[in-house]
Amino acid sequence: MAAVANGFADKDAGTQKERYRRALLQRQSQLQADLKRAAASAREQLEPGALDPADESVLSHRKETLFAQVDRDTQLLNEVQHALRRLQEGTYGICEQDGEPIDPIRLEAVPWARYCVKHQAERDATAESERHTTL
Ligand SMILES: [Zn+2]
Repeated sequence: MAAVANGFADKDAGTQKERYRRALLQRQSQLQADLKRAAASAREQLEPGALDPADESVLSHRKETLFAQVDRDTQLLNEVQHALRRLQEGTYGICEQDGEPIDPIRLEAVPWARYCVKHQAERDATAESERHTTL
């Protein structure tokens, strides 16, 4: 995204961190809105007598999809809020594993990244093998 000149007089405006912060805040409110919608939709579907029994398998599939989405959104929301805290604490953009700066290109793509590419790959590989061993 191109830098936007929006008349901010704040000295932080236009800095890279301020851009990350805005991206994170935007993602946070988007996720919160999604979760609110999902909760409303879950309430609606769980309304007793709202469906006839033939709809139940459709309903249970829909519920699974909804729960999976809520799960993902909640996890991501946690990551986004964690990143916002790190911005406040001044530890933003530093790999939590080795304290090395995270590549700005990575932060542009994933502003809530906690780890550098190397350590994220290691963690993903670990999570992947754990997933396989539990099967
Ligand atoms: Zn690292």
